[in-house]
This record gives sequence, C-alpha cells and structure tokens, in this order.
Amino acid sequence: MSARAGVVYLVGAGPGDPGLMTARSLAMIAGADAVFYDRLIPPGALAGAREDAELVYVGKQPGVPSVPQEEIGARLIEAARAGKSVVRLKGGDPFVFGRGGEEGEALRAAGVEFEVVPGVTAGVAASAYAGIPVTHRDDASAVAFVTGHEDPQKPETALDWDALARFPGTLVFYMGVKRLAENAASLIAGGRDPAEPAAAIERGTWPGQRTVVATLETLADAVAREAIKAPALIVVGAVASRREELDWFERRPLHGRRVVVTRARAQASGLAVTLRDLGAEVVELPAIRIEPRLETAEVQAAAAAIGVYELVCLTSPNGVRLLFEAIAAAGLDARALAGVTVAAIGPGTARALAERGVLADVVPERFVAEALVEALADFEVKGERVLVARAAEARDVLPDALRERGAKVDVVALYETVREDPDEEAIAAAQAADYVTFTSSSTVTNLTAALGERFPTAARIVSIGPVTSDSARAAGLSVDVEAERHDVDGLVQALLEDAAK
Ligand code: SAH
Repeated sequence: MSARAGVVYLVGAGPGDPGLMTARSLAMIAGADAVFYDRLIPPGALAGAREDAELVYVGKQPGVPSVPQEEIGARLIEAARAGKSVVRLKGGDPFVFGRGGEEGEALRAAGVEFEVVPGVTAGVAASAYAGIPVTHRDDASAVAFVTGHEDPQKPETALDWDALARFPGTLVFYMGVKRLAENAASLIAGGRDPAEPAAAIERGTWPGQRTVVATLETLADAVAREAIKAPALIVVGAVASRREELDWFERRPLHGRRVVVTRARAQASGLAVTLRDLGAEVVELPAIRIEPRLETAEVQAAAAAIGVYELVCLTSPNGVRLLFEAIAAAGLDARALAGVTVAAIGPGTARALAERGVLADVVPERFVAEALVEALADFEVKGERVLVARAAEARDVLPDALRERGAKVDVVALYETVREDPDEEAIAAAQAADYVTFTSSSTVTNLTAALGERFPTAARIVSIGPVTSDSARAAGLSVDVEAERHDVDGLVQALLEDAAK
C-alpha cells in the first residue's frame, strides 16, 4: 500500500488527536513525494513523511491572504503531472465541508487520477470526545451536518432554516461560532424549542478541548462568556444533555494541564506518551542530547575485554544501548557477559539489559548511585576488576566507593550529554506551562542555562529525585514535587497526586 506516482490522494487527517488518523492516511503520507497540507492537521501528522518529501503549507491563516482554491488545484495538477505521488491533507474528512469535492472535480477535469482517503470528521469526533452521542435511541434517530457559515458571496442563502428547525434529530453545525446568535434565532423563529439542549465544543479531541452546554436560546451568550473560539462545533439536540453522564475526555486527570518534558528527544517519547494519555498537553523542550563516544580507546578496550571484568555497573538505558553497540563493534555479543556480574542502577536500565538477553544480578530499591553502592555491599570486590560504564559527566559516588573497597575500577564514558538549544516555538508554548518536569540534573542545568530569563517561573517544578532536586535548587528553582520512586513512573505518579490536590 504505497502512494502511486502521478496520483493525488485527497486525505482526511481527522479532527486533531493524532491517534484518530487512519492507517491508510499514515501510509500515504509516508509514501508521498509531496504533501500539501492545511492548518488544522494533528500535531506530528507529517512526522512520518519521507525526508526528501516536499511539504507545502496551503492553509489559511488569520490576517494573511490565503492560497486561493484555484491555485491549490493548479499546484496539485502540476505536481501529479510531474510524476509525483501527491497527498492533499485536510482536517477531518476531505468531503465534509473540506472542498475535497471541488478539488476532485478539478483533478478529473485535468485528467489527473485521484483517490479519496476518508477521515474522522469533527462532527462525529468532537461530539464523541465531549460525551455527546450524535444519535441515541431515545433522543435522536437522525443527525444533520450543517454549515453555520454560508458563503457570503452566494446571492441567496441556501439553507432552509424552517426545514432545519423541523428536522427530526440532532443538528451539528460546522463553522458555526461567528453566526451562532443569528442561526439560533433563525431556528427558534422556525419553531425549534428555545429550551432544547445545545452545546459548543472548542478544539474537540485536542488537549485544550472545552465544552459548554446551554440551551438553544442561551448558548450564544454562554459561548461569548466563555470566549469559545473557532474551530468549534455547535450541537443542537436533546443528546447534548447526555454529556452529564457521558463526559470522559475532559475528565482525564491531566486534562487542560500543560506539562514540559525536558528529556533528550530520544528518551522523551515514553514520558510524553504517558502524560498525553492522562490528558496533558505536552511541550517537548529537550534540554539535552546524547552524544555517543564509542570511538575512544578506553571504550573500545573495555568492550573488547568485557569478559574479564568481575562486575559491570550500568547507570542508564542509554549506557546499556551504547555498551552493547561497543561490544558488537568489538565483534562480540551478549555471551561475552556470561561470567560477569551485572548491576543496573534501576528498573529502566534493567529492562534495557533484559531486552538484550541479560538479566541484571543487582538492582537496588532506590535508583541512585548511593543505593547501588549499598546493594553491592555483599559482593566481594577486593582485588577484582570492575567496569563502571556511564555518562561522561556522572558523579563519582559509585567508582569511589568501589575503589575504597579495594576494587580495580575502570570508568568509561560511553556518552556525553550536551546542551540542546530548544526551538522558539516550544519555548513560547512553555511559557504557559503548569508543570516543568526534570528527570536528571543535566536537564536542570542545561534548561535553565538555555532559557535564562525565559524560564516559566510560574510553573510547578517536578523532580525525579533528591539529586535532581538539589540541582534545581542550586539553579535557583523551588522544587514543588519530588517523586518518591526515582524513575519515570514515579515522577508521573507524583505529578498526578499534585494535580489532584
Ligand atoms: N473537513 C473538516 C471540516 C472543515 S470545516 C471535517 O470533516 O471535520 C472547519 C470546521 O470544522 C470548523 O469551523 C469547526 O466547526 C469544525 N472543526 C474542525 N475541527 C474541529 C475540532 N477539532 N473541534 C471542533 N470543531 C472542529
């Protein structure tokens, strides 16, 4: 299933939640030579596009002259005729108020082949995320999708408001915020009950989704009071009051909270996914980047001689990954560790080992260097060769303690964590953060250095453990939440407890 040359795919990207993009939409994006996209597509929708794909923004922007529809059509035709596989990516479904029909017609007229990949339309998805079923056995046997914003160029309005007022079911208005008061008045004038439940759903399926429920008569005032803005959907019908029972999305524990994740991009995703699943809006502001240092003589020597060590200590999943890369580069595999005692600083590190077929012999209960020293107390290390494989800038607690007990300790730096300069957009988004999470001292020092005056001081600071907390305080921050378990799960738990207060 890949995008064919010379074909234009009119693809729906869904209403905003990246999880609601269809498998086929992702496959087409991944295969396309060119993607022409609109404004309201989910974050990361283009992440799977090919590196050499042409990505062209053709959406509207408030206050900026937009690319006219004819020009979009012409550009699609031109790209297809040049032999490219082309994706035209639109919010929701391309054929529901998406002008996909017009684009298809233009393509057919030009003799360009096209296919349609339907998307999850906002009328269905935003309602569902607001806990409003658009049909219900007791309340509504029909649903109508209606535009709330008629083309003002049209000589007469195409909408028959009296007929809509009599429609025996739910009315779902797209583009209906601006003209809400007039439209509601037209429905009431046509005989619709002013007391009928009605709802407005702003940014449905996005982390910032907001919903107000009122009546047909009072919704416009409620929307003005709450400053509900486009994109928003208006739902008129008895089903709107089902939300009282069925609301779920906005009830998730971190809904409406903005949380900054400062881990290196490669590691951030697990934490970011967990937080998003709990409803948070995650701003990824990677403060550090992992630079492998596998070319050094010390690393190569240690990897080649890994089997001679009595004890090998690993202090992070990155360390595990890179040590195995170094072992492979030396022409060896996990069997080289056959006679070696392996210690991991915590469960994440142990998991990384297990994925490579090695069960750690020692994992302390608390995940700091001091605890690993304690956990190793029963091991006779006097006169033995020990390898501590870790980050360049780590503390010396572990090697010092082992040396004190008479071990011959080699310390090798498998990687260095270097400062990553965060991008401006993420910094701007971080300003309104409710929480900033720190998972290591290096994220603290690097982020505070990178942001300087622009550190979001109003946010609550969440630290993974005492060492990170000390670094935060040293950087002039006050730590509001410290995890009891010093791993990512523990950090999430602590954040959840704080948010529930
Ligand atoms: N083709 C799109 C609709 C495009 S018209 C679809 O099928 O969903 C744009 C209108 O869609 C907006 O004015 C708004 O009314 C609605 N809309 C799109 N995304 C939305 C969202 N996430 N939440 C609420 N309404 C949305």
